[in-house]
Amino acid sequence: MKAIALFSGGLDSTLAMKLIIDQGIDVIALNLDIGFGSTKSRREHMQNMCDQVGAELRILDIKDQYIKDILFDPKYGYGKNLNPCIDCHGNMFKIARDLMDEWGASFLISGEVVGQRPMSQRREALDLVTNLSETQDLLLRPMSAKVLPPTLPERKGWVDREKLLGIVGRNREVQLKMAEEIGLKDFEKPGGGCLLTDENFSNKLKEFIKYDKFEVSDIQLLKYGRHLRLPDGAKLVIGRHKEDNEMIEAAITPKYRKIKLLNAIGPTSAISANASEEDKKLAAKLTATYGKTDPENSYEVAVGDEVFEVSPYDSKEPAKKYFINA
Ligand code: SF4
Repeated sequence: MKAIALFSGGLDSTLAMKLIIDQGIDVIALNLDIGFGSTKSRREHMQNMCDQVGAELRILDIKDQYIKDILFDPKYGYGKNLNPCIDCHGNMFKIARDLMDEWGASFLISGEVVGQRPMSQRREALDLVTNLSETQDLLLRPMSAKVLPPTLPERKGWVDREKLLGIVGRNREVQLKMAEEIGLKDFEKPGGGCLLTDENFSNKLKEFIKYDKFEVSDIQLLKYGRHLRLPDGAKLVIGRHKEDNEMIEAAITPKYRKIKLLNAIGPTSAISANASEEDKKLAAKLTATYGKTDPENSYEVAVGDEVFEVSPYDSKEPAKKYFINA
């Protein structure tokens, strides 16, 4: 007997898998990467959790499908920010359901707890997720199973319902006790949760789609640097520190041009490839303003293949009016 677990790396989904593995069932921990959360440390964390409870981790990249089908047109709307959690969960379960045959799984599990999160884990929301994903009673939620109607694996006796839990609400006492009992270590997730729940990131994304079609290759650039919109509509991203500079450089796609000060130390910036000459010149000046420069001097700044001779502003104040989220 095998089950597929929708796995986020969190404590609840880890414990849900443990409850099923303890009943002699193999569990594949499926993590679906939508592009807004997965970091290297998070992947290491997920592997660590799976190793401790004996699940097999499989990560699938669904960024394209998610951006195309879910992110901008969710049937059940958004949470506090640009997080379409109900549709996102429904989509994930649907994908997991479609993999059941191929992976030889008989049912699905998740770490959802009734009433734990305001939007996605209300009881009605759980029903919506089940309906959206068309998983019917193939979807077992071991953490709250005892307060939910018996699912197929319980009715068929594949899983002993009595050994599952009936947790409701946000209190994590039961989960922490269980983690201690089974000796689970390092279960607090490292930073880097879903960026769609982050107000600042959501605002940048909302602003982005007013000007441009959002694609997978745009995700990375939205994560780093100061974001500005210039008068003719070009997007400018200016690095704030070394890590930003490296990440911006790595995230430059054919839609953007790199900006670099040629004769002084300064940030790496990126500007829309189709920027007007005026916007490019302004971007060069703004990049110089954030460099180790003197307003009395002029500097050469490369914007893609072009070189502009500019003087920095005498303070960062003029940049502010272009800030997104300002
Ligand atoms: S927090 Fe992000 S990943 Fe999680 S369900 Fe919501 S949109 Fe999807």
